Amino acid sequence: MLCDKKFLIGAVALLMGVMPVCGQTKPRPQVIIVGVNGMEWDIIRPLLLKGELHNFAEVIQRGVYGKMRTLSAPNCPKVYSSIATSTPPEENGITGFVVAGKTARTDMLKREPLWSILSKHDVTVGMANVPATFPVMPLNGYMISGMLTRGQGCEDGILCSPKLSEVKGGEAVYPPSMVAELEMNVGDFWIDCSRMPTAEQLKGKEAEAIDHWLQQVSQVRAQQAKLFDYLLSHHRTDFTMFVQSCEDRVGHWLYPIQPYNVGYDPALHSIRLNAFPDQYRAFDQVLGKILKYVDRNTYLFIISDHGIKPLREFEEGRRLYHSAHDHGGNTPIIAKHDFEDGDDVPGSFIAIGPNIKRDVRLMGFTVSVFDIAPTILSLYGIPQPAQMKGRVLSEIFEAPGSQPEPSAR
Ligand SMILES: [Zn+2]
Repeated sequence: MLCDKKFLIGAVALLMGVMPVCGQTKPRPQVIIVGVNGMEWDIIRPLLLKGELHNFAEVIQRGVYGKMRTLSAPNCPKVYSSIATSTPPEENGITGFVVAGKTARTDMLKREPLWSILSKHDVTVGMANVPATFPVMPLNGYMISGMLTRGQGCEDGILCSPKLSEVKGGEAVYPPSMVAELEMNVGDFWIDCSRMPTAEQLKGKEAEAIDHWLQQVSQVRAQQAKLFDYLLSHHRTDFTMFVQSCEDRVGHWLYPIQPYNVGYDPALHSIRLNAFPDQYRAFDQVLGKILKYVDRNTYLFIISDHGIKPLREFEEGRRLYHSAHDHGGNTPIIAKHDFEDGDDVPGSFIAIGPNIKRDVRLMGFTVSVFDIAPTILSLYGIPQPAQMKGRVLSEIFEAPGSQPEPSAR
């Protein structure tokens, strides 16, 4: 299945000290990417207007922000793999949650991802909970896998939420020696957000089941926040990428929708109307913790793979209970993101950092998911590989073409 092992071998060679180490005349740029699975501006905007997202508002004011063009029928593994490789799914091999009948894995990746290229160029890399990074790959730093990590109760194509100790079928942490350290300092954390309850689990006890599930979601987020804080304080790397997934998961079935929408069920959707907005309020708190590590020389990118919108009039309503839409389960969803026209559920792009423009709104779809990797590489002075379909987002910098000089290496 693995079509090109060169990039894995390259990273291993680097770690063995085979790659030449050159003199360095100035520090490398610090870059932190925070990915949110399913950032929906329709929900975020009113919260910003009400002044409830202080950290998010601050970042927007300090930088460039706007929509990001995503893929057709977007979902996490597909889009994050396209972000990492700057290639479309049919080229990089990760076409969805399931590829050729099996849950997508990193060893199905046919194009070299950003973290491998950075590692080869002596940039230290730290990653946690990025979708479709299981099993983890050797790199010049650490990697903790994310969505699609396999473990107990993980049928192919179905999301699950294994704890670190429940992982099966591959390694979730690189280097493996870091597992004990994480267990001691962070605990036995859930690697992905909670699996959504099934229609059968909800029937007749909706409020109780929703509250129980949301409680676990809060625990997942608290653990993730603790993990991110620990990694940034104890394992700072040049390039860091973290992803959160609970926003999307909550939105799918607890999107605050009123009657006359496809799939509306008063037993489910007339209660806990704050469940989904609360996820962005909680994200804002996590963002506040991350911002402690963002000084004036650090680039921070907040990106989202897609938005999430209520079902449309042409959907089949309750029949979705047993459909394979979105996360492949049988949860009674009321919102989704795998619309064929990905422009209906755009991703998000926000950037702050040295010489990045301030308080600028990007209009239309000038930024695409393919542009992230080339732009990051440019910050480190690394040429864009021929495989990459995107471009460097030169327009986000103060003067076109005035990105920081390539770091000497
Ligand atoms: Zn989703």
